Amino acid sequence: MAQVSGGLLEPVVRLGVTGLSRAGKTVFITSLVANLMDRARMPQLRAAARIEAAFLQPQPDMTLPRFDYETHLAALTGPAPHWPDSTRTVSELRLSLRVRPSGFLGGWRGPRTVHVDIIDYPGEWLLDLALLDRSYDDWAEAALSQATKRRQGQDFMALARAEDGALRLEEPKAQALAAAWTGYLRAARAAGWSDCTPGRFLLPGDLAGSPVLTFAPLPKPASTARGSLWREMERRYDAYRSRVVKPFFRDHFARLDRQIVLMDVLGAVHAGPAALDDLRRTMADILMAFRPGGNGFLASLFGSRRIDRILFAATKADHLHHTEHPRLTALTEAMLREARDRAAFAGAEVTAMSIASLRATTEEMRDHGGASLAMVRGMLSDGRQAALYPGALPEDPARLLVPAREGAERWLDGDYGLMTFAPPRLTLRPGEGPPHIRLDRAAEFLLGDRLG
Ligand code: GDP
Repeated sequence: MAQVSGGLLEPVVRLGVTGLSRAGKTVFITSLVANLMDRARMPQLRAAARIEAAFLQPQPDMTLPRFDYETHLAALTGPAPHWPDSTRTVSELRLSLRVRPSGFLGGWRGPRTVHVDIIDYPGEWLLDLALLDRSYDDWAEAALSQATKRRQGQDFMALARAEDGALRLEEPKAQALAAAWTGYLRAARAAGWSDCTPGRFLLPGDLAGSPVLTFAPLPKPASTARGSLWREMERRYDAYRSRVVKPFFRDHFARLDRQIVLMDVLGAVHAGPAALDDLRRTMADILMAFRPGGNGFLASLFGSRRIDRILFAATKADHLHHTEHPRLTALTEAMLREARDRAAFAGAEVTAMSIASLRATTEEMRDHGGASLAMVRGMLSDGRQAALYPGALPEDPARLLVPAREGAERWLDGDYGLMTFAPPRLTLRPGEGPPHIRLDRAAEFLLGDRLG
């Protein structure tokens, strides 16, 4: 449902942008806004020709940090282009578009202003939704059993085993445990595991160091008297749920109209079968948040309004020659099938696409032993040019997803290469935003109908 702003009958679309850390949220928002301001590269956004002006305005929510568009754009488009700093917390930006209405009534009604409120937030925070249905006891048991099985969890487990949760809380101990748990989550994340809760331990935003983030899972002792370490951990976990997790869902998530979920599918393929399967499982967990019936608290928040369009976008598609893009999209779709069916059931229109928010490469064909290879070429961070043949994705996504599910250690058909290209040096003509792949199609799906 469109919200109406300030009694002026100006419609508002609240667009959520999420994805796991490094999925490409910051680059996406920066390039989307730049390309909505200068629309020469947005032919697939049908309303583009009717947009008379696009401008940034003060955002409606005064308590949220503003998405630092200007700094990020300067990083990408300045004389020494570099990738901007990534999303660490929730932030917001309001882009207002003055649009001439379409069709017969267009000339008669005159232009109107549509506000697009972009809300950027870490996908890791959505994983916390599952905590709302779980007691501390329950969560701690599951978290400990997971940490026990993982190499990265051993230091924490040694510390946790040495503690007696029945003893009185001593703050330095709580802090040491929380620090060790955070260390474990970081290491697990770096090793490709995505199901790392509490999500804020990895991206604390402005809560770093506060008691709501100073807890860790502990085995339940026989007695849990008031003031004991275990009881205090439980109290903080409960405070984390009610004071951190719930407000985020209530104040931000439940008010979204549209959502784009960015996924670094290529990065996961490159990292190997375990990482791809982990991404698949984590996305399924994340997507629970988009099934309002699936969680009592969320259902109570949503009432009659809900996100009605969700776009899953495989990012950084400029690492592939365009002939490979349909395969990347098919892989993304296949990864999301279960979760997608559930979200569609809840009434949302869902689609998948391969995009590059900022195209850092050009395509080229090269002869290689008589066969021609579809390659991409870009600049590395040290200024050298490099050509990349990332490996051909299979036509049938099951060729990757089945071995990933079955715990294969490496891909049978060889490795997939990836390079970190630097953003290109741009010379933009007037009216042109930064080069991209399918950003206009993404914008059409997410916003097109609201610009009518
Ligand atoms: P966030 O953590 O989701 O905000 O991720 P960022 O937007 O900061 O992106 C993380 C990294 O992915 C960037 O630093 C780039 O290296 C890379 N990246 C993001 N988008 C693109 C893209 O469109 N093309 C290429 N080649 N790399 C990208």
